[in-house]
Amino acid sequence: SSFAHFGFDESLMKAVRRAEYTQPTPIQAQAVPTALAGRDIIGIAKTGSGKTAAFVWPMLVHIMDQRELRSGDGPIGLILAPTRELSLQIYNEAKKFGKVYNLNVVCCYGGGSKWEQSKALEQGAEIVVATPGRMIDMVKMKATHLRRVTYLVLDEADRMFHMGFEPQVRSICNHVRPDRQTLLFSATFKKRIERLARDVLTDPVRIVQ
Ligand code: AMP
Repeated sequence: SSFAHFGFDESLMKAVRRAEYTQPTPIQAQAVPTALAGRDIIGIAKTGSGKTAAFVWPMLVHIMDQRELRSGDGPIGLILAPTRELSLQIYNEAKKFGKVYNLNVVCCYGGGSKWEQSKALEQGAEIVVATPGRMIDMVKMKATHLRRVTYLVLDEADRMFHMGFEPQVRSICNHVRPDRQTLLFSATFKKRIERLARDVLTDPVRIVQ
C-alpha cells in the first residue's frame, strides 16, 4: 500500500513526506480509507503501530470538509486519551499535520493548569486532545463546549477504563451529537470495551493490527 491511495491533497502529502513516513503502517492502510469513508471504527492496536496518524489524517480531512458548514466555535475533532503523556504525543502529531491547514490544536490534561488550558480553549481550537476528567472540567467551566464535535476518538479505551474514566468517557459520548463519527482504539477487547463499543459506535468496522 502507498499514501497515494488515500487521496490526500498535495499540502497534506507534503507534510507526510516531510515527516519521513515512506509508507503507511498496516493499521493506517486499513483504517485511513475506512475513516475517510465516514465509517465508525473499532481498532485493536497498540502504541507503535502508527494508530495516531491513522485517526489524525482522516480527522483533518473531515474538519476541512466540515469547517465551511459549521461556523462557530468549539472543537470539531475531539480526541480522548488516558494520560498526560499520551495526550501530549497525540497533540504533537495533530499539530505537525494540522498546521498544514492552519488548524489550532489544544491539549488539556489533569495536573496541568486549568487557567492556561481554559484560556487556550477560549482562543478557539478546531481540535482538542484531552484526558476525560479534564475535558469535563473545561466544559463545566464553560471554556468550551461539545456542540460542534462531529469526529470523536477514544484512544487507548482500555487504559482509560483501567484508570477509572469510564463514567467520564460515557458522559462525554452522551453529550456529543449522535450523528458524529466515532473511532475507538484499544489494545485489548474485553467485555467492558465491547459494551462501550455497542453503546457509542454505529455499525463499526473492526480493524485488527
Ligand atoms: P503511534 O503508534 O501512533 O504512537 O506511532 C508510533 C511512531 O511511528 C510515531 O513516532 C510516529 O511518528 C511514527 N509513524 C507513524 N506512522 C508512520 C509511518 N507511516 N511511517 C513511519 N513512521 C510512522
